[in-house]
Amino acid sequence: MRLLVLEDDQDLARQLRAALTDAGYAVDVAHDGEEGHFLGDTEPYDAVILDLGLPTMDGITILQQWRRDGRDMPVLILTARDRWSDKVSGIDAGADDYLAKPFHVEEMLARIRALLRRAAGHASNEIQCGPLRLDIAASKVTLAGQNVSLTALEFRLLSYLMHHQGKVISRTELVEHLYEQDFDKDSNTIEVFVGRLRRKTQASLIETVRGLGYRLVVPSDDGRDDG
Ligand code: CA
Repeated sequence: MRLLVLEDDQDLARQLRAALTDAGYAVDVAHDGEEGHFLGDTEPYDAVILDLGLPTMDGITILQQWRRDGRDMPVLILTARDRWSDKVSGIDAGADDYLAKPFHVEEMLARIRALLRRAAGHASNEIQCGPLRLDIAASKVTLAGQNVSLTALEFRLLSYLMHHQGKVISRTELVEHLYEQDFDKDSNTIEVFVGRLRRKTQASLIETVRGLGYRLVVPSDDGRDDG
């Protein structure tokens, strides 16, 4: 999952980047309104954290333009505590949630997790795919109850596939959602990571769809499922 943080307060932006990186996300940061608007317009972010007061272009205008242009990624706006009218205009402009400053990093992370899983169609913080279980809040994956030890990038890749299980995901899409903007992107490395994930989990779970990409296979009901 790849996020954009658009915040002109450098200290706060740094804190947000650190917390989100620790939580396993790829994070791009912009401090300027126009630059951030451009990034959100051209890069496929999974979610955006958007401060409203920004130089060169304010947050509400940015959000309105994104929505008008069909950018539908979840957006969490940062507002001043006592400005209830900011919350209203932000939500009306297309924001999905808001946080009033100052806020606890844990609350920001919880709201981002919720936006990401909701956008992918999951209501719960635990995503299951056959024997695989992703605990979104703990950033942990288990296979048949056993902890699977993953590097940051392996986790990011598996988490993305699990959020979008059953769908064919191209290598280009994976590259765009796993790496930060200035990272030297090479879609061949995805193959290497998929290979490692197959060895660490179950090879048959990640299917290669020739010429198209990968799909996390949703196992058919084997009779154990009581749903
Ligand atoms: Ca600001």
